[in-house]
Amino acid sequence: MTKEADKGSGTLSCQHDKVPDPLSAFGDKTVPDPILSSATLYVVATPIGNLGDLSPRAVEVLASVDAILAEDTRHTRGLLSYAGLHTPLERFDDVTTAEKTPQVIARLTSGETLALVSDAGMPAISDPGAPLVAACRDAGVEVVVIPGPSAAVAALAASGLPTHAYYFAGFPPRKPGKRAKLLDTLEPLGATLVFYESPQRVAKFAAELATRFPQRTGALARELTKLHEEVVRLPLPELAANLAARPSIKGECVLLVSPAIKA
Ligand code: SAM
Repeated sequence: MTKEADKGSGTLSCQHDKVPDPLSAFGDKTVPDPILSSATLYVVATPIGNLGDLSPRAVEVLASVDAILAEDTRHTRGLLSYAGLHTPLERFDDVTTAEKTPQVIARLTSGETLALVSDAGMPAISDPGAPLVAACRDAGVEVVVIPGPSAAVAALAASGLPTHAYYFAGFPPRKPGKRAKLLDTLEPLGATLVFYESPQRVAKFAAELATRFPQRTGALARELTKLHEEVVRLPLPELAANLAARPSIKGECVLLVSPAIKA
């Protein structure tokens, strides 16, 4: 593994003497020593909007690995430039996963240390990565997670809906029949439902949810951590009407539904 303590210069320098000491934030040794293990895949969370959410530990890891496997290398180059890093980037997305996984496993097994990132948030959560992590586990390759932002959890925490149990459903299926089946399955759950949805489809899906669950409360969490951040929490029929009345909806959206009311 290449270990360069002084990679990069830029707006936020990554020289180790300038990176906040991850240990100092906690006052004791509650986080591991930042020296990386070789032959390890680091699964690194990145910001979902605000670059300030990139953790010192994530910077440390991204600075020190041999290469970063990125969903979109152009996108991640922007993040690296913000952090003043020059670590080599390689494309690793849904299209290349099957072809590249055996090579990545071989490299890790021979001692390389790699980081996996997605365009935003936690890799492997509605993003590429889960099959690679599974393959690492199968091959006995060490996997270390560097946790951080994830839109689902951020939206849940911001929504004001019950958090004691939640069901993360990811993106709902595009086909109406499959969507209806999914909602049949989710209907009895005593858990807040969390969906990712595109801004073009979110009003229509909210209307569908309102028809299905008219007694429940819904929430839209949009553009979290960004300039136009918005969280609206309303009875579902009112939320659907609110979204339907907008000329357009822009940005990234999470839609949430309160749990089934137990009889
Ligand atoms: N792996 C990511 C995570 O853990 O947050 C999720 C990736 S998924 C491809 C992208 C979806 O996450 C978007 O379509 C949207 O539903 C949600 N999302 C991402 N960033 C968001 C933000 N800043 N505010 C609200 N939702 C966001």
